Amino acid sequence: MDWIIEPERKTPVVANTDLLVCGGGFAGVAAAVCAARNSAKVLLLEKYGFLGGLVTSALVITTPPLNNGINSEIAKRLQEKGVYAPCRHSGEEVEWLKMHATDPEIIKYELIQMLKENKIDFLLHTYIVGTIMEGQMIKGIIMENKAGRQAILAKMVVDATGDADIASFAGAPFRLVKKPMTMMFNMVGVNIPVVLDRIGNWGNLKKVLKEAVDRGDQPFDLGINMEFGAPGVHAEKLVYDDEINVWSGNLLGMDGTDPKDLTRAEVTTREHAMRLAGFLKKYIPGFEKSRIEYTSTQVGVRATRQIIGRASPSADEVQNTIFNDTVVKPYAHSDMRLPYGSLLPQNVQNLLVAGRCISAADEAMGQLRLIPVCSATGQTAGTAAALALKQKKTPGDLPVAELQRILQDQGMDLGLGEN
Ligand SMILES: Cc1cc2nc3c(=O)[nH]c(=O)nc-3n(C[C@H](O)[C@H](O)[C@H](O)COP(=O)(O)OP(=O)(O)OC[C@H]3O[C@@H](n4cnc5c(N)ncnc54)[C@H](O)[C@@H]3O)c2cc1C
Repeated sequence: MDWIIEPERKTPVVANTDLLVCGGGFAGVAAAVCAARNSAKVLLLEKYGFLGGLVTSALVITTPPLNNGINSEIAKRLQEKGVYAPCRHSGEEVEWLKMHATDPEIIKYELIQMLKENKIDFLLHTYIVGTIMEGQMIKGIIMENKAGRQAILAKMVVDATGDADIASFAGAPFRLVKKPMTMMFNMVGVNIPVVLDRIGNWGNLKKVLKEAVDRGDQPFDLGINMEFGAPGVHAEKLVYDDEINVWSGNLLGMDGTDPKDLTRAEVTTREHAMRLAGFLKKYIPGFEKSRIEYTSTQVGVRATRQIIGRASPSADEVQNTIFNDTVVKPYAHSDMRLPYGSLLPQNVQNLLVAGRCISAADEAMGQLRLIPVCSATGQTAGTAAALALKQKKTPGDLPVAELQRILQDQGMDLGLGEN
């Protein structure tokens, strides 16, 4: 690779804050709100013009129950707007997941209201591109936006970028994970009873598609492996009656931190989406009047960098252990828990990580990337950051019992019993 040396330049410092929350997905918003409620001065940065992360940008609009800690509060807001509806996934039903569908436009609105109600500063359309380090401490970040290249200084940072961007800029160890990428889109005008009369159940749609491709008599070729990653209907009914959530074929082996792979994934999955919608409309009764309502703003990237933190629990430990330092319990109805060390990167002292890039064994991450877990880790990271600021400590030096008490006082039942 060729390199150039950029000339030294002056970068304006446009803000100085106590806590910088990087990324405005479910994890970032939860972190910002909970830190502000614990008296921290917070600034949140987000690269898009709206909040919600993959939920709004990749149309991941089905979630397991939001029923503990800040998640209960989000559920209540959505319920009040009539957009938190039990739904069925077309895949295998898993009892404890009990999926609920929601509306991404209401989420974009409600998350901004939550920041405003808690008097949190935020800057949209702003891409964080680097950290300013002093030893193992992050002194600030470099960002780029329409105003050019600027710096923000901060005492404490929460990395909620989903991709561990900040942790990697700061030199914390991570592993790179490649999971299938998928473009989600919503179709409206679907006569659901007629479709089901034709195909039996939504799970059969993949079979119908595969048969069509195998026969070779349909003008339809997704150019993907139909055995694994066949496209299909993700949730068979959402909040609204004639609307379904569809996923393109899964693209395998893509690196979500490589712009070339991301570009290829955007192009290919969008082609899949168009062909799939066209196929359904032409060949499946009930889809005659259907159309794509909207495709996602970006291809769905399930995982990229995963920090190798101070703890990396296995799937079994996450499901069955009351850790001494349990600080996350995403659900009221399940025993899933996480230790504090899953949010603490190595080698960087004033950084907490929340959301889909936390530290756990690879086989545990499938469950831990779900939306309620991301927001629950955000709640804990924000609360811990605020406590560390108050006590002038690094997050790793906090008295965990005190953090647990605050989290419980603020609505997250950690399931610690009498301890
Ligand atoms: C195809 C697909 C299907 C899924 N299905 C489900 C499902 O059915 N149910 C479920 O619960 N979960 C599902 N998930 C997982 C779930 O959507 C995510 O794990 C979760 O939403 C991640 O939340 P987060 O806040 O950790 O990260 P993200 O949602 O990725 O948020 C990170 C935020 O940071 C911003 N950002 C990133 N980098 C920068 C930067 N450098 N500078 C500034 N801003 C930055 C991003 O724009 C984004 O807003 C699915 C995921 C995918 C991709």
